[in-house]
Amino acid sequence: IIRFDKVEKSFGAFNVLKDLDFEVAKGEKVTIIGPSGSGKSTVLRILMTLEDVTSGVVYVGGQPLWHEKKGERLVPASEAHLRKMRTQLGMVFQSFNLFPHMTVLRNLTEAPRVVLGLSKVAAKERADELLELVGLTEHAHKFPNQLSGGQQQRVGIARALAMRPKVMLFDEPTSALDPELVGEVLNVIRHLAEAHDLTMLMVTHEMRFAREISDRVCFFDQGRIREQGTPDEIFGNPKEKRTQQFLRAVT
Ligand code: ATP
Ligand code: MG
Repeated sequence: IIRFDKVEKSFGAFNVLKDLDFEVAKGEKVTIIGPSGSGKSTVLRILMTLEDVTSGVVYVGGQPLWHEKKGERLVPASEAHLRKMRTQLGMVFQSFNLFPHMTVLRNLTEAPRVVLGLSKVAAKERADELLELVGLTEHAHKFPNQLSGGQQQRVGIARALAMRPKVMLFDEPTSALDPELVGEVLNVIRHLAEAHDLTMLMVTHEMRFAREISDRVCFFDQGRIREQGTPDEIFGNPKEKRTQQFLRAVT
């Protein structure tokens, strides 16, 4: 459902992603681990169209993301194309990124109404279901700053799900949280991971969690996938020296 085909991404002279080939199949739960600066967030930001690519092609659902097909040729995508493609992906950020001036409920109903054109009633119904899923029904009318970090992040997850994305992207969803709040957020994600047809791509430093929920783990190093495999292969028996060093340092 996601494919990076020889993707390069540079900031000036600095090469963040180098000739990256990477795929995620429909329904697959994939975790990206790796040192700071290795390009993990950049992969997610490219998918969310927050960054463009320097060269190569990214496909989402078989369609080129940063390019449109004009006959046989691929040309840079129009804003309309990007907008359409974006709605297939839901992203959860480290820093929650909720709309501070909107209630929890409104955070969940705004995009479905404005972008998807859902009626007020339909959007509210969808939001109620999701609030129940993340255990925040009682907090629907609060503002983000009246919630704990863990609660805010659960709203963030519900808000992304409200768009019914095909793929959920998580960028270190628990690393801004106090340790005692991490569990409640991981529980919500764990629950989501049980959904068979939801595709998940997550960057995380929670190695135990990654081992538990992932179908596949990719170790990023200097803009490349240095090693990938099942959680047991990567955590139990890493082949590459760099992977071994990294895991020793973080676990
Ligand atoms: P971390 O674990 O610290 O979040 P990461 O693997 O997510 O790291 P990225 O955020 O993808 O790393 O960044 C990769 C590299 O690209 C970093 O060295 C970063 O400084 C650089 N970079 C990212 N965004 C920009 C930008 N807008 N302009 C210039 N350099 C950037
Ligand atoms: Mg990052």
